[in-house]
Amino acid sequence: MTLSQTNSIFTPNVLAGRVALITGGATGIGYSIAQTFAALGAKVVIASRKQENLDAAVAAISEEGGEISAVCTDVRSPQEVEAAVAYTVSTYGGLDILINNAAGNFTVPTKELSPKGWKVVNDIDLNGTFYGCHASFEALKNSPHGGRIISIVTTRALEGWPGCAPAAAAKAGIISLTRTLAAEWGEYNICSNTIAPGPIGDTEGVKRIYEEQGRGEAELRKVPLGRFGERRDIANAAVYLASDAGSYINGCDLIVDGGRCRMNGAPTNATVANT
Ligand code: NAP
Repeated sequence: MTLSQTNSIFTPNVLAGRVALITGGATGIGYSIAQTFAALGAKVVIASRKQENLDAAVAAISEEGGEISAVCTDVRSPQEVEAAVAYTVSTYGGLDILINNAAGNFTVPTKELSPKGWKVVNDIDLNGTFYGCHASFEALKNSPHGGRIISIVTTRALEGWPGCAPAAAAKAGIISLTRTLAAEWGEYNICSNTIAPGPIGDTEGVKRIYEEQGRGEAELRKVPLGRFGERRDIANAAVYLASDAGSYINGCDLIVDGGRCRMNGAPTNATVANT
Protein backbone atom coordinates (compact mmCIF):
# COMPACT_ATOMS: atom_id res chain seq x y z
CA MET A 1 0.00 0.00 0.00
CA THR A 2 1.34 3.45 -0.80
CA LEU A 3 1.33 5.89 2.07
CA SER A 4 -0.31 8.50 -0.13
CA GLN A 5 -3.44 6.36 -0.10
CA THR A 6 -3.96 7.22 3.55
CA ASN A 7 -2.31 10.64 3.44
CA SER A 8 -0.10 9.41 6.27
CA ILE A 9 2.88 11.57 7.17
CA PHE A 10 4.67 8.80 9.06
CA THR A 11 7.73 6.80 8.08
CA PRO A 12 6.73 3.62 6.25
CA ASN A 13 6.78 0.53 8.46
CA VAL A 14 6.67 2.57 11.68
CA LEU A 15 4.21 -0.07 12.97
CA ALA A 16 5.88 -3.08 11.33
CA GLY A 17 5.81 -6.16 13.52
CA ARG A 18 2.85 -4.89 15.53
CA VAL A 19 -0.57 -6.51 15.74
CA ALA A 20 -3.61 -4.31 16.36
CA LEU A 21 -7.19 -5.18 17.28
CA ILE A 22 -9.63 -2.38 16.45
CA THR A 23 -13.24 -2.55 17.62
CA GLY A 24 -15.68 -0.82 15.30
CA GLY A 25 -12.92 -0.87 12.69
CA ALA A 26 -15.13 -1.43 9.63
CA THR A 27 -16.50 2.12 9.40
CA GLY A 28 -15.71 5.75 10.12
CA ILE A 29 -12.81 6.64 12.37
CA GLY A 30 -12.08 2.97 13.18
CA TYR A 31 -11.77 2.18 9.48
CA SER A 32 -9.30 5.02 8.97
CA ILE A 33 -7.22 3.82 11.91
CA ALA A 34 -7.25 0.28 10.46
CA GLN A 35 -6.31 1.54 6.99
CA THR A 36 -3.50 3.75 8.31
CA PHE A 37 -2.11 1.10 10.66
CA ALA A 38 -2.09 -1.45 7.83
CA ALA A 39 -0.35 1.03 5.53
CA LEU A 40 2.33 1.51 8.17
CA GLY A 41 3.06 -2.20 8.47
CA ALA A 42 0.77 -3.39 11.29
CA LYS A 43 -1.26 -6.57 11.05
CA VAL A 44 -4.82 -5.57 11.81
CA VAL A 45 -7.95 -7.31 13.06
CA ILE A 46 -11.22 -5.39 12.99
CA ALA A 47 -14.15 -6.43 15.19
CA SER A 48 -17.77 -5.29 15.01
CA ARG A 49 -21.27 -6.70 14.38
CA LYS A 50 -22.21 -6.22 10.71
CA GLN A 51 -20.49 -8.88 8.63
CA GLU A 52 -21.09 -7.02 5.36
CA ASN A 53 -19.23 -3.96 6.64
CA LEU A 54 -16.37 -6.11 7.93
CA ASP A 55 -16.12 -7.90 4.56
CA ALA A 56 -16.07 -4.60 2.65
CA ALA A 57 -13.39 -3.12 4.90
CA VAL A 58 -11.18 -6.21 4.68
CA ALA A 59 -11.55 -6.29 0.89
CA ALA A 60 -10.68 -2.59 0.50
CA ILE A 61 -7.66 -2.62 2.81
CA SER A 62 -6.40 -5.95 1.43
CA GLU A 63 -6.71 -4.49 -2.06
CA GLU A 64 -4.38 -1.69 -0.95
CA GLY A 65 -1.86 -4.29 0.22
CA GLY A 66 -2.63 -4.26 3.93
CA GLU A 67 -2.64 -7.37 6.11
CA ILE A 68 -6.05 -7.45 7.74
CA SER A 69 -8.80 -9.81 8.85
CA ALA A 70 -12.07 -9.50 10.71
CA VAL A 71 -13.99 -11.19 13.46
CA CYS A 72 -17.72 -10.61 13.93
CA THR A 73 -18.07 -9.34 17.50
CA ASP A 74 -20.61 -7.64 19.73
CA VAL A 75 -18.50 -5.84 22.33
CA ARG A 76 -21.41 -6.07 24.80
CA SER A 77 -20.53 -9.75 25.19
CA PRO A 78 -17.40 -10.46 27.26
CA GLN A 79 -17.22 -13.92 25.67
CA GLU A 80 -17.27 -12.50 22.14
CA VAL A 81 -14.58 -9.96 23.04
CA GLU A 82 -12.43 -12.72 24.53
CA ALA A 83 -12.93 -14.70 21.32
CA ALA A 84 -11.84 -11.68 19.23
CA VAL A 85 -8.65 -11.35 21.25
CA ALA A 86 -8.00 -15.12 21.03
CA TYR A 87 -8.56 -14.99 17.26
CA THR A 88 -6.08 -12.12 16.94
CA VAL A 89 -3.40 -13.89 18.98
CA SER A 90 -3.83 -17.21 17.18
CA THR A 91 -3.92 -15.60 13.72
CA TYR A 92 -1.00 -13.19 14.08
CA GLY A 93 0.96 -14.56 17.05
CA GLY A 94 0.23 -11.83 19.57
CA LEU A 95 -1.47 -8.53 20.29
CA ASP A 96 0.40 -5.24 20.74
CA ILE A 97 -2.27 -2.55 20.31
CA LEU A 98 -5.91 -2.53 21.37
CA ILE A 99 -8.08 0.26 19.97
CA ASN A 100 -11.42 0.58 21.77
CA ASN A 101 -13.38 2.51 19.16
CA ALA A 102 -16.80 0.83 18.98
CA ALA A 103 -19.58 3.05 20.28
CA GLY A 104 -23.27 3.76 20.12
CA ASN A 105 -25.10 7.03 20.75
CA PHE A 106 -28.46 8.71 20.30
CA THR A 107 -29.95 12.04 21.31
CA VAL A 108 -32.77 12.30 23.85
CA PRO A 109 -33.47 14.69 26.75
CA THR A 110 -32.48 12.86 29.93
CA LYS A 111 -35.94 13.20 31.47
CA GLU A 112 -37.24 11.10 28.55
CA LEU A 113 -34.37 8.60 28.60
CA SER A 114 -35.33 5.01 29.45
CA PRO A 115 -33.18 2.77 31.65
CA LYS A 116 -32.80 0.55 28.57
CA GLY A 117 -31.41 3.45 26.55
CA TRP A 118 -28.98 4.28 29.33
CA LYS A 119 -27.89 0.66 29.57
CA VAL A 120 -27.37 -0.06 25.88
CA VAL A 121 -24.96 2.84 25.33
CA ASN A 122 -23.04 2.11 28.50
CA ASP A 123 -22.88 -1.59 27.58
CA ILE A 124 -21.26 -0.79 24.23
CA ASP A 125 -19.02 2.13 25.15
CA LEU A 126 -17.93 1.62 28.76
CA ASN A 127 -18.47 -2.09 29.37
CA GLY A 128 -17.24 -3.03 25.89
CA THR A 129 -14.06 -1.05 26.54
CA PHE A 130 -13.54 -2.76 29.87
CA TYR A 131 -14.08 -6.20 28.31
CA GLY A 132 -11.50 -5.36 25.64
CA CYS A 133 -8.88 -4.18 28.13
CA HIS A 134 -9.48 -7.11 30.47
CA ALA A 135 -9.38 -9.75 27.73
CA SER A 136 -6.23 -8.24 26.17
CA PHE A 137 -4.12 -7.89 29.32
CA GLU A 138 -2.11 -11.13 29.02
CA ALA A 139 -1.33 -10.60 25.35
CA LEU A 140 -0.45 -6.91 25.79
CA LYS A 141 1.79 -7.79 28.73
CA ASN A 142 3.75 -10.11 26.42
CA SER A 143 4.16 -7.54 23.63
CA PRO A 144 7.85 -7.13 22.76
CA HIS A 145 7.12 -3.51 21.82
CA GLY A 146 5.19 -2.63 24.99
CA GLY A 147 1.41 -3.01 24.97
CA ARG A 148 -0.82 -0.10 24.03
CA ILE A 149 -4.46 0.56 24.83
CA ILE A 150 -5.99 3.49 22.98
CA SER A 151 -9.66 4.25 23.62
CA ILE A 152 -11.61 6.75 21.54
CA VAL A 153 -13.69 9.07 23.72
CA THR A 154 -14.93 12.61 22.99
CA THR A 155 -14.24 16.14 24.17
CA ARG A 156 -17.82 16.11 25.50
CA ALA A 157 -16.99 13.40 28.05
CA LEU A 158 -16.14 15.71 30.92
CA GLU A 159 -17.80 18.99 29.98
CA GLY A 160 -21.48 17.92 30.00
CA TRP A 161 -23.31 16.80 26.86
CA PRO A 162 -26.98 17.78 26.89
CA GLY A 163 -29.13 15.15 25.16
CA CYS A 164 -26.41 12.51 25.27
CA ALA A 165 -26.17 11.63 28.97
CA PRO A 166 -25.40 7.91 28.48
CA ALA A 167 -22.57 8.52 26.00
CA ALA A 168 -21.13 11.37 28.07
CA ALA A 169 -21.13 9.24 31.22
CA ALA A 170 -19.74 6.21 29.40
CA LYS A 171 -16.91 8.17 27.80
CA ALA A 172 -16.08 9.83 31.13
CA GLY A 173 -15.98 6.34 32.62
CA ILE A 174 -13.55 5.26 29.91
CA ILE A 175 -11.24 8.16 30.78
CA SER A 176 -11.38 7.14 34.43
CA LEU A 177 -10.75 3.47 33.60
CA THR A 178 -7.82 4.49 31.40
CA ARG A 179 -6.18 6.49 34.18
CA THR A 180 -6.56 3.55 36.56
CA LEU A 181 -5.07 1.12 34.04
CA ALA A 182 -2.20 3.52 33.36
CA ALA A 183 -1.33 3.29 37.04
CA GLU A 184 -2.01 -0.44 37.46
CA TRP A 185 -0.58 -1.80 34.21
CA GLY A 186 2.37 0.53 33.66
CA GLU A 187 4.57 -1.97 35.46
CA TYR A 188 3.74 -4.46 32.68
CA ASN A 189 4.89 -1.93 30.08
CA ILE A 190 1.33 -1.35 28.91
CA CYS A 191 0.49 2.28 28.12
CA SER A 192 -3.21 3.24 28.36
CA ASN A 193 -4.45 6.46 26.79
CA THR A 194 -7.55 8.04 25.31
CA ILE A 195 -8.03 10.17 22.21
CA ALA A 196 -10.78 12.77 22.43
CA PRO A 197 -11.97 13.88 18.99
CA GLY A 198 -14.02 16.96 18.37
CA PRO A 199 -16.58 16.78 15.53
CA ILE A 200 -15.04 14.82 12.65
CA GLY A 201 -16.53 16.22 9.47
CA ASP A 202 -15.99 13.21 7.20
CA THR A 203 -17.92 10.75 9.40
CA GLU A 204 -21.48 9.80 8.53
CA GLY A 205 -22.91 10.76 11.93
CA VAL A 206 -21.54 14.30 11.89
CA LYS A 207 -22.38 14.84 8.22
CA ARG A 208 -25.96 13.70 8.85
CA ILE A 209 -26.52 15.81 11.95
CA TYR A 210 -24.93 18.98 10.62
CA GLU A 211 -26.55 18.70 7.19
CA GLU A 212 -30.00 17.67 8.46
CA GLN A 213 -30.07 20.34 11.11
CA GLY A 214 -28.29 22.97 9.02
CA ARG A 215 -25.80 23.52 11.84
CA GLY A 216 -22.59 23.14 9.83
CA GLU A 217 -21.68 26.81 9.46
CA ALA A 218 -22.41 27.65 13.10
CA GLU A 219 -20.45 24.64 14.34
CA LEU A 220 -17.50 25.52 12.14
CA ARG A 221 -17.28 28.96 13.75
CA LYS A 222 -16.62 27.23 17.08
CA VAL A 223 -13.36 25.72 15.82
CA PRO A 224 -10.36 28.04 16.21
CA LEU A 225 -8.49 26.29 13.38
CA GLY A 226 -11.44 26.97 11.06
CA ARG A 227 -12.02 23.43 9.81
CA PHE A 228 -13.67 20.29 11.08
CA GLY A 229 -11.47 17.37 12.02
CA GLU A 230 -10.94 14.59 9.52
CA ARG A 231 -10.76 10.88 10.23
CA ARG A 232 -7.07 10.90 9.35
CA ASP A 233 -6.43 13.42 12.16
CA ILE A 234 -7.58 10.77 14.64
CA ALA A 235 -5.73 7.98 12.82
CA ASN A 236 -2.50 9.99 12.95
CA ALA A 237 -2.94 10.61 16.68
CA ALA A 238 -3.45 6.86 17.15
CA VAL A 239 -0.24 6.09 15.21
CA TYR A 240 1.66 8.50 17.44
CA LEU A 241 0.42 6.80 20.61
CA ALA A 242 0.83 3.27 19.19
CA SER A 243 4.36 3.72 17.80
CA ASP A 244 7.66 4.04 19.64
CA ALA A 245 7.04 7.81 19.65
CA GLY A 246 4.39 7.20 22.31
CA SER A 247 6.37 4.86 24.53
CA TYR A 248 6.42 7.24 27.54
CA ILE A 249 2.83 8.49 27.24
CA ASN A 250 0.62 6.76 29.78
CA GLY A 251 -2.66 7.95 31.29
CA CYS A 252 -3.12 10.86 28.88
CA ASP A 253 -6.25 12.15 27.10
CA LEU A 254 -5.07 13.44 23.72
CA ILE A 255 -7.55 16.06 22.55
CA VAL A 256 -7.82 16.33 18.75
CA ASP A 257 -10.39 19.04 18.10
CA GLY A 258 -8.64 22.06 16.58
CA GLY A 259 -8.92 23.87 19.92
CA ARG A 260 -12.73 23.80 19.96
CA CYS A 261 -13.12 22.73 23.59
CA ARG A 262 -10.93 25.63 24.71
CA MET A 263 -13.35 28.20 23.31
CA ASN A 264 -15.90 27.89 26.14
CA GLY A 265 -18.57 29.34 23.89
CA ALA A 266 -16.53 32.42 22.97
CA PRO A 267 -16.48 33.39 19.30
CA THR A 268 -13.35 32.71 17.30
CA ASN A 269 -11.26 35.63 16.00
CA ALA A 270 -12.69 34.97 12.56
CA THR A 271 -16.20 35.39 13.93
CA VAL A 272 -15.27 38.61 15.70
CA ALA A 273 -13.73 39.94 12.51
CA ASN A 274 -16.88 39.07 10.56
CA THR A 275 -19.39 40.68 12.91
P1 NAP B 1 -19.24 4.83 13.36
O1 NAP B 1 -18.77 4.83 11.95
O2 NAP B 1 -20.71 4.62 13.61
O3 NAP B 1 -18.42 3.73 14.14
C1 NAP B 1 -18.89 3.03 15.25
C2 NAP B 1 -18.51 1.57 15.05
O4 NAP B 1 -18.83 0.87 16.26
C3 NAP B 1 -19.27 0.91 13.90
O5 NAP B 1 -18.34 0.30 13.04
C4 NAP B 1 -20.14 -0.14 14.58
O6 NAP B 1 -20.22 -1.33 13.78
C5 NAP B 1 -19.38 -0.39 15.88
N1 NAP B 1 -20.25 -0.87 16.94
C6 NAP B 1 -21.38 -0.29 17.42
N2 NAP B 1 -21.94 -1.06 18.35
C7 NAP B 1 -21.14 -2.16 18.48
C8 NAP B 1 -21.18 -3.34 19.27
N3 NAP B 1 -22.18 -3.55 20.14
N4 NAP B 1 -20.20 -4.25 19.12
C9 NAP B 1 -19.20 -4.06 18.23
N5 NAP B 1 -19.10 -2.97 17.46
C10 NAP B 1 -20.07 -2.03 17.58
O7 NAP B 1 -18.87 6.16 14.11
P2 NAP B 1 -17.56 7.10 14.18
O8 NAP B 1 -18.08 8.46 14.04
O9 NAP B 1 -16.50 6.62 13.29
O10 NAP B 1 -17.12 6.92 15.72
C11 NAP B 1 -16.00 6.14 16.10
C12 NAP B 1 -15.60 6.52 17.51
O11 NAP B 1 -15.24 7.90 17.58
C13 NAP B 1 -16.68 6.31 18.56
O12 NAP B 1 -16.09 5.86 19.76
C14 NAP B 1 -17.24 7.71 18.74
O13 NAP B 1 -17.82 7.89 20.02
C15 NAP B 1 -15.95 8.53 18.62
N6 NAP B 1 -16.17 9.94 18.27
C16 NAP B 1 -16.60 10.29 17.03
C17 NAP B 1 -16.74 11.63 16.72
C18 NAP B 1 -17.18 12.07 15.36
O14 NAP B 1 -17.20 13.26 15.11
N7 NAP B 1 -17.55 11.17 14.46
C19 NAP B 1 -16.44 12.61 17.67
C20 NAP B 1 -16.02 12.22 18.92
C21 NAP B 1 -15.86 10.87 19.21
P3 NAP B 1 -21.49 -2.34 13.84
O15 NAP B 1 -22.72 -1.49 13.91
O16 NAP B 1 -21.35 -3.15 12.63
O17 NAP B 1 -21.30 -3.17 15.08
